[in-house]
Amino acid sequence: MAARKGTSNLEAVNVQVILRCRPVNKDEIANRTPQVIQVNEKQSEVVFYQNVAGKMIGRSFHFDKCFGPESGQARLYDQAVSPIVEEVLDGFNCTIFAYGQTGTGKTYTMEGGDRNSEDGHDLSEVAGVIPRAINQIFHHLDSINSEYTVKCSFLELYNEETTDLLAIGDALSRTGDKNKLRMLEDKSGVVVQNLEEIIVKTSADIYGLLDRGSAKRRTAETLLNKQSSRSHSVFCVTVHMRETDTSGEEVIKTGKLHLVDLAGSENISRSGAVDMRAKEAGVINKSLLTLGRVITALVEGSGHIPYRDSKLTRLLRDSLGGRTKTCIIANIAPTVQCQEETLSTLDYAHRAKNIRNRPEVNQR
Ligand code: ADP
Repeated sequence: MAARKGTSNLEAVNVQVILRCRPVNKDEIANRTPQVIQVNEKQSEVVFYQNVAGKMIGRSFHFDKCFGPESGQARLYDQAVSPIVEEVLDGFNCTIFAYGQTGTGKTYTMEGGDRNSEDGHDLSEVAGVIPRAINQIFHHLDSINSEYTVKCSFLELYNEETTDLLAIGDALSRTGDKNKLRMLEDKSGVVVQNLEEIIVKTSADIYGLLDRGSAKRRTAETLLNKQSSRSHSVFCVTVHMRETDTSGEEVIKTGKLHLVDLAGSENISRSGAVDMRAKEAGVINKSLLTLGRVITALVEGSGHIPYRDSKLTRLLRDSLGGRTKTCIIANIAPTVQCQEETLSTLDYAHRAKNIRNRPEVNQR
C-alpha cells in the first residue's frame, strides 16, 4: 500500500484571494445611496472611488478573481471554488474562508439562500459554497471506483471559546462544559479535543448536520445587521479515499476542506456595540487583528509568525502558510456608507494575496 504523492493541479501556490461585491439592497436603492465600487471581472479588478477635494478619484485593486453584483453563486463556485475542492479530492488540505464587514454577504456566500431547487432534486441557484462543495465531493466519490469515508465537524469560536456545534447538548444556553472544547497542539498541528467527527454517507446527511450546527450558532443584533454574527464558524469535511492505481497498487488519500465564515470585520463603534457586546466584539477584533498580523508576517517572510496570539489563528495555522491551500473570499458592499470598511477589506485582502503556501499531499 502506498501513500499518494500528489501533484497539484493549481499552478499558483499563493493564497487565492477572491473579491466579491454584493448588489445594492432595497434600502440603498430607495435612498439612492451613491456607489463607490466598480468591478471589472475580465481584468480581475476592483476600482474604489473616493471623493478627494471634490474630485472622484479611482484606486484600482487586482485579485485572483473578482465577482461583481451580477455574478451569481454558481459562477463564483465554478470559477473560484470548484478547482479547490478538486484538490481536496486529490488528497490536499484546503481552506476557504469568507472575510468582510457584517452585511456584505459572507454567510450568503458560504451558505447561501434556500438550498433546494423547486423540484427538490438539485441545488437552487442561490445555494452557497458549502452545499455546492458537498455536492461536488459526493458526486466525485460516487463516480469513482474507490472506498471512501467522509467525516464532518463543525465548531464555533466565540469570545475565544471553542464550541462544538454538532455536540448534542443545551443549544440555547450554550454554557454547558460539554459544549466547550480545548485546543491541543501535537506534531501534526492543532487538535481540538473531543470534537465530534460524524461519519456521513450522503449529501443529505451533511445538510442535516449543517442545519443543526447553524441553528446553534450564536448571533447578536447590532445596528448594522440584525443577524450579525459575532462568531467565527469552521465547518470541516474530511475525505478518506482508498483507490487502486493503474499498476494495481493501493493508494490512500486523505483530503480535508475547512469552510470558515469569519465574524464581521467592522469596528465596534460603527456597529453600535456596547458593554458585553463591546467585549465580545473586542475579542473578535483581536482575532481578526491577529489574523492580519499573521498575514503580514507571512508576506514579509518573518521568522516569527504570531499564530499563537489568538484561537482563530491557532486553528487556522495549517491554512495560512502551512501545508494547505487557502482561498479567501473578501466580501464588500458597493455603497458610500461602507467605504471605510471596504477600503480596509481591500487592503487586508490585497496583503493576503502575497502569502505563499507550501502545498504537500497528506501522507500516511
Ligand atoms: P454577512 O454574513 O456578511 O453579515 P449576509 O450574508 O447576511 O452578510 O448578507 C446580507 C444580506 O445581503 C442578506 O440579505 C443576503 O441575502 C444579501 N446578499 C449578500 N450578498 C448577496 C449577493 N451576492 N447576491 C444577492 N444577495 C446578497
